Amino acid sequence: MKRILVTGGAGFLGSHLCDRLLADGNDVICLDNLFTGSKDNIRHLLVNPYFEYIRHDVTEPIQLEVDQIYNLACPASPIHYQYNPIKTANTSVLGAINMLELARKTNARILQASTSEVYGNPQIHPQPESYWGSVNPIGIRSCYDEGKRMAETLFFDYHRQYDVDIRVIRIFNTYGPRMNPSDGRVVSNFIVQAIRGEALTVYGTGTQTRSFCYVDDLIDGMVRMMETEDFLGPVNLGNPEEFTMMNLAKKIINLTGSNSHIVHAKLPSDDPVQRQPIIDLAMEMLDWKPSISLDDGLQRTIAYFRKIL
Ligand code: NAD
Ligand code: UDP
Repeated sequence: MKRILVTGGAGFLGSHLCDRLLADGNDVICLDNLFTGSKDNIRHLLVNPYFEYIRHDVTEPIQLEVDQIYNLACPASPIHYQYNPIKTANTSVLGAINMLELARKTNARILQASTSEVYGNPQIHPQPESYWGSVNPIGIRSCYDEGKRMAETLFFDYHRQYDVDIRVIRIFNTYGPRMNPSDGRVVSNFIVQAIRGEALTVYGTGTQTRSFCYVDDLIDGMVRMMETEDFLGPVNLGNPEEFTMMNLAKKIINLTGSNSHIVHAKLPSDDPVQRQPIIDLAMEMLDWKPSISLDDGLQRTIAYFRKIL
C-alpha cells in the first residue's frame, strides 16, 4: 500500500484518479481548495478510512509523508483559468515548486498534469512531444499555457538539480462524468445545452478541431506513467481521433435526441485551430492507447448529466 497525494483531487480528473488509486489498494490524500472542484465529487469516498480530504491551497507549502504525488491542482477550463489569471499562474508555478519541494524532502515520485496547451496554436500537426509549441506569451490563455510550460521547466530542473523522481504527462481534451456543468468546456456545454433544449453555442465557424479522450482511458494512462520506470516524459495522453466542433455539436444533438439547434458565437482570441496528439510514445513506453470511442464516452457522459441536471 502506497501513501499517495492527489492535488486537485476533488476536481473532475482528480476525483476519478482517487477512485482508481483506492481501488488499487492505496492510501490516498486528496488536497483541494475547491475553487473548481466539489465535495460532491468525493462524497462517496469520505467514509473510506484509506481516504483523507485536506482543504488547502497549493500556492502554500505543506508537509506530509507520502510516497507519490499526482499534481493536478489548477483550474483547467478557459473561463475558470481566466477568472483570476494571476492566481492561475501562481497555482501552476508556486504549486509546482511547493509540490516539488515536498517530493524532494520525502523522496516521493511526482507526476505533473501538463497539457496540450503547451503546444499553443500548433504549427505542426498532429503534435509529437518533440514539438516546442507556438504559444502567445501575452494573450488571455497565457496565464494557463505559460504557467504549465514553466511548471514543466521546474519539474525537469528539480530532476537535473536535485534528482527528484519526476513524470510529466501532456493531457489532451478529456471529458466524462463529473465535469463541472458550468465550466464552459465544449463537451459539457453542448451536452447541458442539448439536454435543456437550448441552442448549442458553436464558437466561430466550428471548423476548429479537438481530439477527445474519455476519462477512464486517461486515468489508466496517468497511472501507467506514474508506475513506469526509467521514463520521465513528457508524454502525450489523449485520443488521436480528431473532430471539428461542428461535428461534435451534431453528434451530441443526435445522441441526446434533442430538438436544439446550433448557433454561432464569437470565437475567443487565441483559440487553437487544431489539436491532435501523436501517441506513439505512450504506446511504446506505457503500452497504452485509448479504448473508448467518442460515441460510447459521450453516451456515458450524457447519462451522468441527465442524472445531475
Ligand atoms: P478541474 O477544474 O475539475 O480540477 C482542478 C482541481 O484543482 C479542482 O478541484 C480545483 O478546485 C483544484 N484547484 C485549483 N486551484 C487550486 C489551488 N490553488 N490549490 C488547490 N487546489 C486547486 O479540472 P480537471 O479537468 O480535472 O483538470 C485537472 C488537471 O489536469 C489540471 O491541472 C489541468 O490543467 C489538467 N488538464 C486537464 C485537461 C482536461 O481536458 N480535463 C486537459 C489538459 C490538462
Ligand atoms: N467551444 C465551442 N462552444 C462552447 C465551448 C467551446 O465551440 O460552448 C470551442 C472552443 O472555442 C474551442 C473548443 O470548443 O475551440 C474546445 O474548447 P474547450 O474550452 O473545451 O477546450 P480548449 O479550448 O481548452 O481545448
